[in-house]
Amino acid sequence: MSFSTLGLSDPLLRAIAEAGYTRPSPIQSQAIPAVLKGHDLLAAAQTGTGKTAGFTLPILHRLSEKSYGANRPIRVLILTPTRELAAQVGESVAKYGAHLHPRLKSEVVFGGVKINPQMMRLRGGVDVLVATPGRLLDLVNQNAVKLDKVETLVLDEADRMLDMGFIRDIRKIIALLPKKRQNLLFSATFSDDIRKLTTGLLVNPVKIEVAPRNTAAELVEQIVYTVNKPQKAELLCRLIKENDWRQVLVFTSTKHGANRLTEKLNKTDIKAAAIHGNKSQGARTSALAGFKAGELRVLVATDVAARGIDIALLPHVVNFELPRAPADYVHRIGRTGRAGEEGQAVSLVSHDEYSALRLIEKLIGKPIKREQIAGFEASEVAPPEPPAKPRGARPGRNSNPPRRPSSTQSKGQFQARSRA
Ligand code: AMP
Repeated sequence: MSFSTLGLSDPLLRAIAEAGYTRPSPIQSQAIPAVLKGHDLLAAAQTGTGKTAGFTLPILHRLSEKSYGANRPIRVLILTPTRELAAQVGESVAKYGAHLHPRLKSEVVFGGVKINPQMMRLRGGVDVLVATPGRLLDLVNQNAVKLDKVETLVLDEADRMLDMGFIRDIRKIIALLPKKRQNLLFSATFSDDIRKLTTGLLVNPVKIEVAPRNTAAELVEQIVYTVNKPQKAELLCRLIKENDWRQVLVFTSTKHGANRLTEKLNKTDIKAAAIHGNKSQGARTSALAGFKAGELRVLVATDVAARGIDIALLPHVVNFELPRAPADYVHRIGRTGRAGEEGQAVSLVSHDEYSALRLIEKLIGKPIKREQIAGFEASEVAPPEPPAKPRGARPGRNSNPPRRPSSTQSKGQFQARSRA
């Protein structure tokens, strides 16, 4: 299937070609026609599936079909859980809408930065507003935005917004919207809370599920190195240097731990920066930009900060510590192997994390290969490997993870992985 069969206008097809996409991803081929027809949408899709273009393209198509009122009311409202995701969705709107004529205006607003410049930018009116819920309500309260002309509402990463405690804000925002509108909801998981939210929100939605919840776990090569906790940082430096990893996203469980590790990496001449909730928005944005531009080799992040950041085709993800919630492991490793490319997820696991490891293996439904590096062996013996283990890894063996060329960062094709 090609993009040209989906019913999108020429200026949008031009932007798609410029982005280097040749074929729609599974979610795009299903979502685009449905949204163009004006249906509500309930989509189970994680970051990395191409969901952003899946909703942005048809929304822009519909917007550009009708003339704008003189004072440009907000006609599309996109809510996201984090500042990073808001910024990225905003970039997508600008990129895909680049050739529309007349140009549509879009803005991005989020907390953690001054509100006044945002109020100024909204003054001339915007067609598309991308916002985090808290800041949007602040702007509503200051009469800087009106939502009574919204035609389409998008809730992106709805599960994460609920996890972050935004449900009340979301309900308040929904109450300010016109009753008749189009609603699109994207979520990686479907908890009872999400179901409750969708029941009152969506009218006869088209339901799309493009990947089973844990697909990332199947696409990504996963390795556990058992190691004593104090040696983790040194082992990480060794892995990065010996395997010549060029772009590594490292997860730590605390902000403090992220800072400490970043310092250590920089001391051994591995350029790194940390990104977490205590960092200013400016520091986060510049760390992300430096990482994307290849100036930084390692980005050390906590789960909340990393969620939603769009770094296409990331080859290596490292769990410096295992996450407490097994589902977060799946989210983390979903940062690699994106858009059908292979990826590698390495976890450095110390004795106190063995039970967390078991829970993760239970969730992903398969054992993870265990390895040790000579000189970094864990003094406590790792639990016996589950019997179904496909490839043997003998404790104490001196083994390096397979090398993987870091030059594969071209725009990849999406691997078709929709459910039959
Ligand atoms: P998303 O799931 O929206 O975060 O998108 C994941 C990544 O895939 C982004 O870097 C997009 O630029 C990229 N992408 C989106 N659609 C396509 C496509 N049809 N072909 C190749 N890459 C795409």
